[in-house]
Amino acid sequence: MALHIQTPLIESHALSCTSGKQVYLKLEALQPPGSFKIRGIGALCENLKRQGVDRFVSSSGGNAGIAVAYAGKKLDVPVTVVVPETTTERAKRIISGFGAEVLVHGASWNEANEMAESIAREHGALVHPFDHPLLWQGYASMVDEITSSGLRPDAVLVSVGGGGLYSGVVEGLRRNGLTSIPVLAVETQGTASFHAAMKEGKLVELEGIRGVATSLGAKKVAQRAFELQAHHPTQSVVVSDSQAVSACTRFLDDHRLLVEPACGAALAPVYEKLPAIEPYNTIVCIVCGGSTVTAEQLRSYALS
Ligand SMILES: *Cc1c(COP(=O)(O)O)cnc(C)c1O
Repeated sequence: MALHIQTPLIESHALSCTSGKQVYLKLEALQPPGSFKIRGIGALCENLKRQGVDRFVSSSGGNAGIAVAYAGKKLDVPVTVVVPETTTERAKRIISGFGAEVLVHGASWNEANEMAESIAREHGALVHPFDHPLLWQGYASMVDEITSSGLRPDAVLVSVGGGGLYSGVVEGLRRNGLTSIPVLAVETQGTASFHAAMKEGKLVELEGIRGVATSLGAKKVAQRAFELQAHHPTQSVVVSDSQAVSACTRFLDDHRLLVEPACGAALAPVYEKLPAIEPYNTIVCIVCGGSTVTAEQLRSYALS
């Protein structure tokens, strides 16, 4: 049995009314570890276990690390997550709550990742947060579920960090024969590495990451995401932190679900009625979720 669940696809009365469109939500926030990531990470970890890997190593203090910890618990494989000093107590608690070992190392993700790589060289395997073909295949299963429900959307909205989710959604559309359905790839201003790559026509490494959508904080997207946008209709959309946070706040009231600003980013074009959604009638938002924010934190973002 897969480690992820089939999630509901619901029509959102609130978002449809707000935008004047028919808006559907793919509720990945309901995955047991709190985000879509378990679809890909679950598939990758199962594959590693079949190969005899005896430890999963992650360098993510966010939802990827949480998903690896969850997968290890379910598959009975020990997990080490190396996180930078900036990681919140809450994230560390969630990861260790699934029985994983949490090591704090370095001021930034790069240093934590170097240590994770050296641990994985000794024993175990590193589970990358967004750059692996099995992750994309796993993420593609959400599109299989959407199409098997009979819905044929005019556009799909996803948020983009390292581009794993985007790559998986495009793969899912392609394997279901939906090669002409555009994907709107949403980032926040402080995390817009995909936007920069599309504009420059080559992969771009940002100098730094800013803002509240920490789960979108990849300085450079995966090569695969960059290749796919050249072949699949893709529109880059950039929203502000305050638009992402406001979308989270409104979504919490409308649907009683708390999601991270990284996920609010993908809802913001609908709540804000941005010109990017104008051409489309039936829209699916991937509600990717995220466990690292609390209601109180969201309120403090909204006030700042
Ligand atoms: C990881 C993550 C993303 C971005 O996914 P990528 O594959 O890195 O593009 C978006 N939202 C949430 C909540 C995430 O955990």
